[in-house]
Amino acid sequence: MIYYGKQNINEDDIQSVIDVLKADFLTQGPAIEKFERTVAEYCGAKYAVAVTNATSALHIACKAAGLGHGDVLWTSPITFTASANCGRYCGADVDFVDIDDKTYNMSADILEEKLKQAKKNGKLPKVVVPVHLAGQSCEMERIHALSKEYGFTVLEDASHATGADYKDTKVGSCKYSDMTVFSFHPVKIITTGEGGMVLTNSKDLYDKLCLYRSHGITRDADLMTHEADGPWYYQQVELGYNYRMTDIQAALGTSQMQRLDEFVSRRRYLAARYNELLKGLPLCTPYQHPDTKPSWHIYVVRVDFDKVKKTKKQIFAEMKERGIVLNLHYIPVHTQPYYERLGHKPEECPVSLHYYKEAFTLPLYYSLTDEQQDDIVNALKEVLV
Ligand SMILES: *Cc1c(COP(=O)(O)O)cnc(C)c1O
Repeated sequence: MIYYGKQNINEDDIQSVIDVLKADFLTQGPAIEKFERTVAEYCGAKYAVAVTNATSALHIACKAAGLGHGDVLWTSPITFTASANCGRYCGADVDFVDIDDKTYNMSADILEEKLKQAKKNGKLPKVVVPVHLAGQSCEMERIHALSKEYGFTVLEDASHATGADYKDTKVGSCKYSDMTVFSFHPVKIITTGEGGMVLTNSKDLYDKLCLYRSHGITRDADLMTHEADGPWYYQQVELGYNYRMTDIQAALGTSQMQRLDEFVSRRRYLAARYNELLKGLPLCTPYQHPDTKPSWHIYVVRVDFDKVKKTKKQIFAEMKERGIVLNLHYIPVHTQPYYERLGHKPEECPVSLHYYKEAFTLPLYYSLTDEQQDDIVNALKEVLV
């Protein structure tokens, strides 16, 4: 069976983990700082905070932004639910900005319209979470400009976009945002098993992220209310969590970072190859915005199922018979029962609903061979035409 994604672990990765297992620290040791520095330097950001996963990264990023009861967070409906849930964890309301029909990312036009409306109603968002679907950056320059005009924090969910480029920068540089989050789940671009990270250029946000990651506790004299009682002393100055990554994971992450460019370049090669091989089939291949060089976490195609006279379920079943497991990214978050209960209506985001009807994800990962990709395309030819 060929699945939509999987990790790639080599001997260096394995050795790096063994080295930590034989060393002094399994957690809260030097491997964390090394991983954080490696990712921050790669992206061109000042600070990085490694945590247990991208979900906890999004949570503490919202906390650091000061999100709380009575506030509002906006994100895209075409994302993993965690991009929205982080707002709910903080007691904030969540609202959704529909996607652009070409990139499938949060539409900057719809965002701008919605902001104008929200300003009139006195209900502007405190945090906006653009999600770089498939590893293709959102239009960050415009979103950044809107954030200055309307005064919200920009938190990039770059879970798909480690190693991706936008204009003259790496995603994660935070040139056009306040914070950026990566995921290191095994299906993502690099992995630490479970893992996530927040990047920022703000010392103030960095200090808060470090606090929220570890119980709200600090040993930094500058953050304490008074001088330390002695060398044993620490203070809990906020209500934080235990979201710390282990050194075992961080060592794996640093090792995986050595191959990030190789991972991304293979994904770019396979995506370009799909584009060629799928020509002539009754489907729509991904659009690439000229400002972006995606990392291609996923390869999404769209089919007008009325035209091919088969249902999506049938296509999934017939591909599975041929050893290929398709996937779908994503079910529009605002249509999930939890969000419907909070008052969201499917028709709020019509472009996302249309996308959901037509889209599905083809397998794409570093170790997918050209031959396997040919098999996938041939199987698609059989089931679609
Ligand atoms: C994977 C993913 C997350 C959550 O990542 P975890 O590390 O599994 O918590 C959040 N947002 C998006 C867009 C994702 O793809």
